[in-house]
This record gives sequence, C-alpha cells and structure tokens, in this order.
Amino acid sequence: MNLELQLLCDAPDAVALIHRYWATGEDGQFLEKVAALLPFRNFTSPAQVTQYVREQCRVLDLNQRCPRCAEAVLITTRSAARAQPQRSPRHCQACEEKIESAKREARAQAEQRLAERLCAYMQARPPVPADYATVTDDTAVLLLALNTAIAPRLAAGGFSGHDCKALAPAHVGHFIERLHQAGVLMEAPAHAAPGTYYLDGDALRVKVNQRAFELQPGLAPGHIDTLLAAYHRRSFNDAPRLYDLWLDYAEADCMAYFNTQCAIYQHELYADELAEVRSALRAGLEHYSVAQLWSAIWRVVRDAASLANRTYYNRAKASATLPGKLRRLLERARREALELKSWRRPEPQPAGALGMVLAELFGIDENTPGSVAWATFAHRSEDWAGVGEPKAWMASRRLMVRALEADMPFATLKQFAEILAAGYPLDAAIHEVLSRWPAPGAAPGWEAFSGGPGSAPVEGPAP
Ligand SMILES: [Zn+2]
Repeated sequence: MNLELQLLCDAPDAVALIHRYWATGEDGQFLEKVAALLPFRNFTSPAQVTQYVREQCRVLDLNQRCPRCAEAVLITTRSAARAQPQRSPRHCQACEEKIESAKREARAQAEQRLAERLCAYMQARPPVPADYATVTDDTAVLLLALNTAIAPRLAAGGFSGHDCKALAPAHVGHFIERLHQAGVLMEAPAHAAPGTYYLDGDALRVKVNQRAFELQPGLAPGHIDTLLAAYHRRSFNDAPRLYDLWLDYAEADCMAYFNTQCAIYQHELYADELAEVRSALRAGLEHYSVAQLWSAIWRVVRDAASLANRTYYNRAKASATLPGKLRRLLERARREALELKSWRRPEPQPAGALGMVLAELFGIDENTPGSVAWATFAHRSEDWAGVGEPKAWMASRRLMVRALEADMPFATLKQFAEILAAGYPLDAAIHEVLSRWPAPGAAPGWEAFSGGPGSAPVEGPAP
C-alpha cells in the first residue's frame, strides 16, 4: 500500500492507534484486524474504532490518481485502498468540489431559464375574469362535482389532477380539461409538483397530467357557496351539452371497469385499440346503460382470455380482438334485440362526485340507458328532439319523463284518459296534458279537467 496519512489529532494514544489501523505489510495486507486494536479508551466495538480513525485522520491513496488532475484521491475505508498504482474512477476532493460547484451553477442557471420561460408562458395566458353566472350547463354541473370532489380547495388556491381523483372513476384529466377549455380554470404552475414544467433544449414542455389549476378570477371572495347554490337551482335546459357530459362520464365509468378487467386477465391494448373500445362503448351508450355495458365488457374480456389459450393464439393477439368483439356483441344485441344483463356497481369503483351530482340533479345513474338519459335532458327544453323524430314522439317522451320525475304516473294517465274521453285527438291530448305540467323544478299541481275541444282553457299550473 502507498498511503499518506494526514493526522487531525495529536494525542499520543490516538496517533498510535491510527498508525496501527492503517499499517500494512509487504504483501499489501493490513497487519492487524480492527478488533485487535481494542481495548482503546472506553471503546467496546471495532465499529467505534473505525469511526474514530476516520474522524481523526485523512488518508490519501497515492496508488489511486484523480482522472482530472492526477492528484492522489481521498479514501475512508481499508477496502478502498489499492495495492497497485491505477487511475481512480473517482475524482480527488478538490476536483470533486469544482465539479459539484459547476453542477450547482448549471442547475441554478437552468432553474433561472425555466422560471423566465414559465413567466413568459403565463404572461401569454393572462387571467381572464370568468362570468360564472352565465357558464353553460355542463360547466355548471362539472363545477358542482369538482367542488364536491376537492372541497374546500376549489375556492382556496390550486389543485392538481391528482387531487381530483374523487371526481370520476376514470378520465379525470379530461373533465378538468373541459373546465380549462370552458375558461373557468387556469393553469397554476406555482401549485404544480416540481418537474411538471421543464426545458427540453430550449423548448418549454409540460407533463399534461401533472398540471395544477385554479379558478379564473371573477368570483368575489367567499361567494363560491352562493354561486354553487344558484347552480343547484338552475333550470338546466341545454340538452346537447348535458348529454355530451353524461356520455363522457358514462364512457369513463365503462373504461374504468374495462381497465380493471383487462388487468385481471393481463390484456394489454395499444392506444389505437383503446380508442376503438371507447368508440364502441360510446356508440353502445346511446342505447344501453353503463351497468349493461359492464356485463358486455365482462363477457368479451373473458372470451378473449380463453382465446389466448388456443393454439396459434397468444395473449397479445387475443387482446387485439377485444375492440372488434365488443363492437360486434353490441351491434348483435341491438339487431337481434338480445337482452344485456345489468351488473351491479363494483365495490372498488365508486361513482365519483360527478356521478353523484348527475344522480342528484337528474336522477340518472349507471342503470339509466342512454336513450333515457337523452330524454331526461331533452324534455327540459322545448327545443331538443331526437334527430328526425316526429313532434308527437318528443312531446310524449317529455310527458312520460315529467310524470315519472314527479312520481305522478297515475294522475297523468287519468288526465290523459279524461281528455281523450272528451273527444280530443291523440296528438292534441298529449299536448293538452303536457301544457298542464309545470316546467321542471316547479311544483306540479293539477286542476280537474272540464270541457272538451273548443272549450275555454282550464286554469292550470304555469307552463
Ligand atoms: Zn483532481
């Protein structure tokens, strides 16, 4: 060995101990085992001796040279010493410090550059006061749900997509992005986890799913509760937007189940295959309920799993059949009027805040078929009907939904029968009963029908 000891103490017993500790023979072996150096002062273990020697003496190994400046490198353990001269994989202490300092400097510069770019990025996206009173129906529903999911953080500072997990069973980022696009949320880099925004060369990049958001200005402090209460009282009549939001939510509820089932059977799908599955589910949702699609998913995932065990098949090939299997099953079910069973909501997949709000406001949940979901939204406005649908169909659907929503199916049919008996034609009778129904949200009230076609209009509840 070729060691240079730099003593940091001068007590004779300590100096003697350090020399014995590092003493080596001709063969390069250490002369004494550490345990043999005991007793020393009040030490009781070899580890105490090693620790003490390390603290009281710097050791340079003249056989190991720094790759940068060729100075001897510092070692702290016996096992790090080398018997033959060689180039060290480590730098000497002085070079190590210079390199660290250069790294620190580079990091500080990178942070400074990132901060400047981020500042410019946010300046290009200045806060735009939102008119919270006039947001569209889907935005109001989503804000109600988001508040439920992260209360009280919606009104008090920023939140990340990760904080909003309770919003929906899946696709939470998509729902947050809907609010961002609607102009009620803005990015809040200060609330994002470190590393969310980074420089790639000179380009500023962002990990989209890690972004944090906060409400756009426009809401007086402490007014969030008043605003949300007003949303609760809204008449909600924008059927296309509400239906689109429900479809997004229902699709997420199906995909959460699909992903869980695929994980059980180790099916792995590519992005384009997953997109096909989502599109098949979306088409299916126009007729079926989420609970029925869960059973369809359950069936095709198991079919594909058994396929994987056949000759000439493997798991990847079998997984690739999933989108087609699902689409064919749903098309066949429609064509042949096959009954799709309804599954109960799986315990580990709660409906999420958005599901709760949709159920609370509109009475729809995983058991509501898409056609009924559409009717539930459409009957709230006179303007919306199914494509190419006769007016009488729209009116009769609206009447049925309102009667069921108010839990007055018998009173409705009784009225209808009385009006028909008075000589009204079918279409006119439907419209007559509907005209006595209150608008959604108002309390229903019935007046006895008296008179027939041509008689003076009956005083009924306000339309
Ligand atoms: Zn060096």
